Amino acid sequence: MALDDRQDRYPFPEIEARWQKVWADRKQFKVTEEPGRPKYYCLEMFPYPSGRIHMGHVRVYAIGDLLARYKWMRGFNVLHPMGWDAFGLPAENAAIDNGVHPAVWTYENIDNMRTQLRRMGISYDWDREVATCDPAYYKWEQLIFIRMLERGLAYRRRSRVNWCPSCQTVLANEQVEAGRCWRCDSEVTIREIDGWFFKITDYAQELLDWCDRLPGWPERVLTMQRNWIGRSEGAEFALPVAGRPDLRIPIFTTRPDTSFGMTYAVLAPEHPLVDGLAADAAERSRIDAFRAEVARETEIERLATDRPKRGLRLTARAVNPFTEREIPLFLADYVLMGYGTGAIMAVPGEDQRDWDFAKAHDLPIVATVKRPEGWADDQAYTGDGVKINSGFLDGLDIEAAKRKAIDWLVAKGLGQAKVNFRLRDWGISRQRYWGAPIPVLYCEKDGMVPEREENLPVVLPRDVQISGKGGSPLAEVASFVNATCPKCGGRARRDTDTMDTFVESSWYFLRYCSPTYDRGMFEPGAAAYWMPVDQYIGGIEHAVLHLLYARFYTKVLRDLGMLKVDEPFQALLSQGMVIKDGAKMSKSKGNVVDPDDLIRRYGADTARLFSLFAAPPEKDLDWNDRGVEGASRFLNRVWRFVHAHLAELNGAVAGRGAAEGEPSGSAGAGRGAAEGEPSGSAVAGRGAAEGEPGGSAARAFRRTIHETIRKVTHDIEHDFHFNTAISAVMELVNALHDFERVSLDTMPRPARAALLREAVETTLLLLGPVSPHITEELWAALGHRESLFKQAWPRPDETALARDEVEIVVQVDGRVRGRLTAGVDAREAEIRERALADDKVRPWLDGRQVAKVVVVPGRLVNIVTRG
Ligand SMILES: [Zn+2]
Ligand SMILES: [Zn+2]
Repeated sequence: MALDDRQDRYPFPEIEARWQKVWADRKQFKVTEEPGRPKYYCLEMFPYPSGRIHMGHVRVYAIGDLLARYKWMRGFNVLHPMGWDAFGLPAENAAIDNGVHPAVWTYENIDNMRTQLRRMGISYDWDREVATCDPAYYKWEQLIFIRMLERGLAYRRRSRVNWCPSCQTVLANEQVEAGRCWRCDSEVTIREIDGWFFKITDYAQELLDWCDRLPGWPERVLTMQRNWIGRSEGAEFALPVAGRPDLRIPIFTTRPDTSFGMTYAVLAPEHPLVDGLAADAAERSRIDAFRAEVARETEIERLATDRPKRGLRLTARAVNPFTEREIPLFLADYVLMGYGTGAIMAVPGEDQRDWDFAKAHDLPIVATVKRPEGWADDQAYTGDGVKINSGFLDGLDIEAAKRKAIDWLVAKGLGQAKVNFRLRDWGISRQRYWGAPIPVLYCEKDGMVPEREENLPVVLPRDVQISGKGGSPLAEVASFVNATCPKCGGRARRDTDTMDTFVESSWYFLRYCSPTYDRGMFEPGAAAYWMPVDQYIGGIEHAVLHLLYARFYTKVLRDLGMLKVDEPFQALLSQGMVIKDGAKMSKSKGNVVDPDDLIRRYGADTARLFSLFAAPPEKDLDWNDRGVEGASRFLNRVWRFVHAHLAELNGAVAGRGAAEGEPSGSAGAGRGAAEGEPSGSAVAGRGAAEGEPGGSAARAFRRTIHETIRKVTHDIEHDFHFNTAISAVMELVNALHDFERVSLDTMPRPARAALLREAVETTLLLLGPVSPHITEELWAALGHRESLFKQAWPRPDETALARDEVEIVVQVDGRVRGRLTAGVDAREAEIRERALADDKVRPWLDGRQVAKVVVVPGRLVNIVTRG
């Protein structure tokens, strides 16, 4: 960066600090419920207080702030809050590494990040700030836990869980990515453990159905949710075991039409029926050995398609009820107890995993769907076709055969149609300290007992040893563990697990509605007014985790009678990542740009402008220094123009009558008139256009101003194309410079000044939500006493938008024979004359008499002839 370049810069450090203080002192973005006034709830996903904001934060908060400020200017009552997803593992790791208490570490980080966010000038209502580690926050989540417990929506069971050996905690399926911990990337192992679950599967169908009723969500997020919920229709039936009338194995299949091709069946090794199938002690020990092998594998490994299918053949055999033939029974790692019934009918002809397994174990393969011509028969066939080798199903198509197979199972009393979901219940127990305690106790007499409501919150004890090893740190805190049974008053032990932090983030948007309310989770009236969130903004990495949990939790609260909405987020914007040199910014890659540096060197307005201009929000943003320089140059250019012309611009106001008080308090030219604002307002450009001083150049420039208003409004409103909106403002500033030059000698001074002022005010209004400090400063420099963000968003003036010239169709006896271009205000006589003289039209008039000429101004000339 050249030194002289720096000297040129407008004084952003001073300006930004000043306006941040003004906004804070005035509490400009504080909101209260105003029934009857349209509301807009704009929410960015709240951050984990890691200590410093990164460029990804700058991007998402700049997007949210643009929308919030824009909606303010559109007259909405805007709720735009900020808070902290404050529980979680890094605080504990910091405690282990540096000996600082997680609470101290967390609150220090919050202070740092709050300062950084204030430096960005985001329009938050800071009075609504929430931190989820505050007992006044998690108290309500404990209460809801107890309500869910009463309704069977929270339950405890032993289960095989994903275990991260490094984080020393359980992970939900959603938190395992390709067999690795989502947080630390360690390989995930399997453990059997007692824990709490939320019954999200009760809501599987509703969560799926509503995916079709969220038009404001990106389709790719909805697709990910639909796949995660994974609804499949099929049949469940009982598979008889040969020679064992007492034993039947329940089977779920999505392809009952392929039943005639079932040449073997498979049970999950963990299946409870397996013990009863062992013929003798020798087989039992083979089964135990096989189970031990499989227990070392994660679900992900077991489901991977690219690995050999491990299996153990049992002595017992099953009977395919369709063919009445005996078939072998296997245990295999690729069948999971958690899905369906934990047992499958294997149809290698039409299922690739079964095909691979059949090949490996030398089992027969029967095709039950006719293969297309030239099928190589080297893999399973999953396409369409007519049923073959299928007894009474032969000749049917697949769908008809499915229905008929189910009818047959029902008639035989063997089974029925069944819907299955891939979605599993949400395991919420974590063996960690820094989380919300689970509010239950275990009494020798009464068993598991929930804490009494009046004893909530169950406060996380402060005094704890965190080693990072072994189980729950809370188990070591005697004063916490040893408690009184809420039922019998005897001795009881508290649950020492804490809740998954995704529980806190499942309802924080509700707490913002009434953050200090102390008689419930939220004040019902406030939630009724603000909910649902109108625009939610956050990364695609939350497509299934947080976004599914929050939808579920909202529905639970609705069913508890606390909320009226079915869905928490009306619309969702998933912004792309910030990348540099082709990779996501990360410390290990050494390509991190620190927002503090950026703001120190260029100012928050430039940082915001760059991050909104460099890419459409849903795409990845490729960082480049030249782009930042460009953004900075643009703001400096606006600054210089206004200051270079300040006398003339402010003279424009004086000239048209400063007597009216607040100099154009209504500000933006063009919009005033329509809204019946004081006459002081729209004077500027209107005079220029009507009086025609400056002629076509002035008219064209004024049209550019209003076309820019129209485009920017459209781009923000309809597809979040902030980059093209900003680009339009940049073009307007170019046009402003051009017009300033050409009008200098050709236009009367007052008219020119008025039009320049209209253009500058429009630029500031349109640019305000992007770069709020510089625009607020320049707005004040133009003599306005009221904040830019209290102004109405400009509206395009239709008369200014009208094109100078229009195309006029010329018809002869009802048929189009020519076209001509004429000024919109061309006189009728002139148009008639030109139509009759037109080269294309004249031949059609040759030898005929013109009987009548009808002129529809601005559109059409019809010439009627007589032969
Ligand atoms: Zn981990
Ligand atoms: Zn008791």
